[in-house]
Amino acid sequence: MTSTDLAGTHLIAADDLEANIRAIFAAAGCSPDEAALIARELVGANLAGHDSHGVVRVPKYVDWMRQGFVRAGQRADVVTDGGAFAVLEGNRGFGQTIAAQAVALGVERAQEHGTSIIALRNSGHVGRVGAYAETANAAGLISIHFVNVAGSPLVAPFGAVERRFSTAPFAIGLPLPERPVVLDFATSLVAEGKVQVASYGGRPLPADALIGPDAQTSGDPHVLFGEYGPTDIRSASNGAGAIRAFGEHKGSGLALMCELLAGAFTGSGCAGPAKSKDRIANGMLSIYLSPAHFGTQAEFERSASGYLDWVLSARPVDSAQPVLLPGDPEAATRTARLAGGVPLPVNTWGAIRRTAADLGLTLV
Ligand code: NAD
Repeated sequence: MTSTDLAGTHLIAADDLEANIRAIFAAAGCSPDEAALIARELVGANLAGHDSHGVVRVPKYVDWMRQGFVRAGQRADVVTDGGAFAVLEGNRGFGQTIAAQAVALGVERAQEHGTSIIALRNSGHVGRVGAYAETANAAGLISIHFVNVAGSPLVAPFGAVERRFSTAPFAIGLPLPERPVVLDFATSLVAEGKVQVASYGGRPLPADALIGPDAQTSGDPHVLFGEYGPTDIRSASNGAGAIRAFGEHKGSGLALMCELLAGAFTGSGCAGPAKSKDRIANGMLSIYLSPAHFGTQAEFERSASGYLDWVLSARPVDSAQPVLLPGDPEAATRTARLAGGVPLPVNTWGAIRRTAADLGLTLV
């Protein structure tokens, strides 16, 4: 299933998209297994509706590989092993590979001890953080993830016009039977990838998402990326403005904590001030809790389930827009896109084709 409509949307079946992306990463130098994992996670983000963390990233990832910012075939090394806690060095490997390893260790240790804390440093871009909360959920664990991006200051703190924070995402997953709850968001008003998506002709940004050096708010991606052609790789170093932190002073405070916990505490480094030309790295501090070990599983499930029903019963502002739980929009979009295909702006698809052509591939 592929089609392109007059509105400039290329619709492609998830399986076909994944096969194309797998081929690109294999041609770029990843092993077949790693190429398959990266493709699955990127398409998984599109399926969840987070196009910002989906295949729109492919040109940049391949460019990062060429420049040595991210390296194929890496494994995380254990720097400190405290049993229920560990520090892992990601060696600038692909985030999809390295974070999967970190999460597997966190799950294993929480199943042994009832709780675990994993501090991951120097990983390549880990993508959609909610995917890791979903993995923990599937293992019956609560998980909390603080993430930052060393070397990528893009976000203005509350009350400022200059970039100081990364888009520093935060996620919590709760393994409730039949209705796992996953809260997962960037602490910027929009994720940087959403600015990319808008710049390629996808969903426009809120009018106050960005702020220019003149302190004017804007929804124009040029404020972040400067000048660019339709299928050019976007670079925030070409723009003069910043993304705004979400949630006024409170969201800005949470972004700061993500920087300090995922960046300073793990040893991965904060968004700045060092001008890091040779690396952009995710740090991730993850906490895993096993309700079964705490002896609270039955009460947790009973109490949470009743409470969630009550939350969902709140009278909506607009009766056409029912109250949802965190994770509901992703689940609904996944169902719809698995059935009907993944819509991509033609310029996103054009940029991916351009990357493929540079590698000698023709996409189907
Ligand atoms: P967003 O603004 O779309 O918010 C998503 C969260 O809000 C989800 O938990 C979703 O279930 C919930 N939600 C959405 N609509 C809802 C509704 N009507 N009712 C209840 N809950 C609702 O997300 P974002 O800030 O654009 O982040 C997108 C993705 O970017 C995330 O997956 C994040 O992990 C990822 N990200 C990654 C990095 C990185 O460096 N790896 C950096 C930034 C963001």
